[in-house]
Amino acid sequence: MRLPCIPWLTRRRRVSPFILMYHRILDRQDEGPFPVQPGMFVTTEHFAENIRHLKERYTIVPLDVLLAGVFEGEGMKDHCAITFDDGWEDNYLHAFPVLASERVPATVFLSTAYIGTEKWFWFDEVAFFMKNGARFDALRSLAGPGAESVVRAVRGKPRRLGDWITDVVLAMKNTDGELLSAVASEISEWNRAFTPASKVMLDWKQVVEMKNSGLVGFHSHSHSHKNLDRLSMAEVLEDVQTSLDSLRAHLGQEEPGIFCYPSGRFAPETTLALKEMGFRYAVTTQRGAVTPDDPFAVCRVGIHDDVCSKVLNGVWNL
Ligand SMILES: [Zn+2]
Repeated sequence: MRLPCIPWLTRRRRVSPFILMYHRILDRQDEGPFPVQPGMFVTTEHFAENIRHLKERYTIVPLDVLLAGVFEGEGMKDHCAITFDDGWEDNYLHAFPVLASERVPATVFLSTAYIGTEKWFWFDEVAFFMKNGARFDALRSLAGPGAESVVRAVRGKPRRLGDWITDVVLAMKNTDGELLSAVASEISEWNRAFTPASKVMLDWKQVVEMKNSGLVGFHSHSHSHKNLDRLSMAEVLEDVQTSLDSLRAHLGQEEPGIFCYPSGRFAPETTLALKEMGFRYAVTTQRGAVTPDDPFAVCRVGIHDDVCSKVLNGVWNL
């Protein structure tokens, strides 16, 4: 089905600068070993369409150029930047060829613990577990803060598998860290027993190739992709520093530059830790235009196939 993705691009009003946030670019939603949540992907076809139309209407610049311009008072109307979170291998397989043929710059935020490994994020392990009809005895008997809502989400099975997975993952995100990691590790054990390893994240060779194209920049999305608002300042420093060490070792990057909060979560201590490490900006998942207010709470506009036309129409109201 072809979504009416970008009708707003034909209008003439000048638009505030904005940053698009993508995660995964897939030929099909069922590509790969686990079901992908509807909010996590755009099809390759729609991505190529997005980029072509953006190019016609806006000036697409590297993220650091956009941020420097906005925070140095240049306004940057009708400018935008493209970002991808996490470091999915499909960014290389499907998005990079489009970026390269259209000569469009982009930024990828890497969670370095996953790069070059066959690790999956816990929410994808949950999705795999649910898709494969695993028994939920373990989840039904959960106890602890937030456990009730997980049990409710597991029992209240909606018609679409994707919606059910989204409900359960959301409920799990709102439990306390201990319960979440206990459940996640139990599910992960189960998955390991039933599935061969499968690489879904970028490896460093792919990262280096994209960087060497001169089109794609890489920045930190933390090392472990934990919710940083739940960590102490010392823990944030350690985790993020590990990611910076990794970027330096593999890409020779000395400057911390721009940070991307995992799941958009941060607390005042998180920002303090980032400033201490020398970061200049941090982007959130909060929807909005880029304004010269807080360089450590920069808004973006999330794009995924599920809400494609709605979100893109909304760019006009930023
Ligand atoms: Zn992320």
